[in-house]
Amino acid sequence: MADEQHQLGNSTAPALRFDLISIFPDFFSSLLAFGVVSRALKTGIAAVHTTDLRTFTHDRHRTVDDRPFGGGEGMVLKPEPIFAAVNSLGIAAKSKRDPAAETVILLSAQGRPFHQQVARELAGMRRVVLICGRYEGVDERVAEHLCDRELSIGDYVLSGGELGAAVIVDSVMRLLPGVLGNAHSAHYESFGEGFDASVQDSEVPLAVSAAGGLLDYPHYTRPPEFDGYPIPEVLAGGDHAAIRRWRRQRALEKTARNRPDLLTQASLSKEDRAFLAGLGFDNQTWPDAAEGK
Ligand code: SAM
Repeated sequence: MADEQHQLGNSTAPALRFDLISIFPDFFSSLLAFGVVSRALKTGIAAVHTTDLRTFTHDRHRTVDDRPFGGGEGMVLKPEPIFAAVNSLGIAAKSKRDPAAETVILLSAQGRPFHQQVARELAGMRRVVLICGRYEGVDERVAEHLCDRELSIGDYVLSGGELGAAVIVDSVMRLLPGVLGNAHSAHYESFGEGFDASVQDSEVPLAVSAAGGLLDYPHYTRPPEFDGYPIPEVLAGGDHAAIRRWRRQRALEKTARNRPDLLTQASLSKEDRAFLAGLGFDNQTWPDAAEGK
């Protein structure tokens, strides 16, 4: 799959093109073959191009790494093939790039954290290049002079950047307009954006409860009782206002238990605060929701 373009079924230009640079381009074949990512490629909304870093070597062994200056463990990815790979993609030089439209990113444990807000930002771009490190890492001149930023997918060390690149491709593609069947899905889920009063007021019990920076609420499906475990009664009762309140409270409870840090950014009403205080979670640093929310 070296140096392959993945975009099927539509001749119009994709909204977003990813370029993945790696010494293991085949790593991405299953990422691209299934689910939401595959659909985004088939509809032509997005495209993915994989580049084999070894294409840009000039020796018999196709060497991409070398020993570190100053001594120490392991090998380091050399700068020349990486610069050549990015240059081959027709991306503007770092100083001339339009930062809102195209970006070159190095996957790195030393990078800034990748989270949903970064995914939203990348979903608004035309071109995203992801460089996957290996071994002890990548010659620092790549981060300094070729890349716009380093991103980390979490506080742990992976053996390569490919998993991180896959995480970014998946989470960004599902935010592209038209990729998910239900446009509300990406809005009203964990880490979604704020309350939308127009939706909140609708008759339909949309998943509004997790909006405003909370984690999603729990979901249930048939059967109504499984192995002696029933679904919460309120969900089968048809009272949409009660369902909405239940979902909001479960989202609050889950967030307070699992990710209390998120509450400092969430939109909380007086009722939300009272509910959390009733559960024993009370914190003055949680901001008030804007008027009417
Ligand atoms: N010596 C590096 C350090 O301590 O930060 C770790 C290098 S790691 C073994 C090899 C490559 O995996 C990195 O160059 C990077 O591309 C990728 N990688 C490792 N952890 C990562 C993380 N948390 N997020 C994104 N990429 C990561």
